[in-house]
Parts: sequence; C-alpha cells; structure tokens
Amino acid sequence: MVIRLGRRTLEEIHAHAESTYPEECCGLLIASSGSKDVVDSVKMRNAFSGPKHDRYHIDPLELFKADREAARRGLTIAGIYHSHPDYPATLSKFDIAHSFAWYSYVVVSVPKGEAGDTRSWLPNQDHSSVAEETIEIRDGMAEDRGVSRKA
Ligand SMILES: [Zn+2]
Repeated sequence: MVIRLGRRTLEEIHAHAESTYPEECCGLLIASSGSKDVVDSVKMRNAFSGPKHDRYHIDPLELFKADREAARRGLTIAGIYHSHPDYPATLSKFDIAHSFAWYSYVVVSVPKGEAGDTRSWLPNQDHSSVAEETIEIRDGMAEDRGVSRKA
C-alpha cells in the first residue's frame, strides 16, 4: 500500500511538527475521494488534557466538522498525522489502541526540534498490529497546480 503526499503538504506537516515542539502536533490528511492521494493537510488542536509531549487527542466534534468540510470540497480524510518529539516515527501502543483501521497514520519524528523521519502506518481492526505503508512524495499534485513556485 502506498500513500502519496504532495511535497508542499509534507513541508507543511513538518513545519507544524516543529512549531509545537516539544509537544505533539496533530492534523488531518485530506485526499481525493476514494484515494490515498493527499492534496492538503489540516492542522488540528492537540486536545489531550494532560502533558502533550507524548500524547495527542483530536476532539471528535472537530474531526466531524473537518470531515464535513472535506466532503464539501469533494475530498475525504485519508488519515491522521502527528509528531513524536524526540521519539522514533513508529506508532506507540497508545496510538494503536486509539486508532481507526480505515485511516493512515503518518508519524513525524522530531529529534531536538527538527522534523525528520516520517513514516505511515495502517493499524488493523482489532488494534493488535500495524503494517507500514510506503510514503510517496510527489511534486505537482493538485495542491501545487497554478501556484508559482520559487526556483
Ligand atoms: Zn504517537
């Protein structure tokens, strides 16, 4: 399985991850309907009530609203991204336990405040395992059309 990310979207996710360091950031991966062609990302508030350096929580009502907004644009939520400050880009047991099997989970490792290793994971239905998904970075996806690019 492959999830395709536009380069600009990946850069936005990395910038978000660095801006919330040393706390986790989280957001949504917005794709063309019925695909894993991610054309946009939406920043979400980390609503976890405790320390946020190794936890994130997306408010279900905010997720619902974002889902409706994506549908209005003819798009769909293909997954959720979040960051791991000073921790590898793998899903934690907590992440897996709170996952939905229909989403891709993109995790950005942020060692010392700098976004690095970025990997995508597909949890199974019963939260017992995850499979890694290949991330393909693309230039010139829908996000970039008509946008003048520097150099
Ligand atoms: Zn995590």
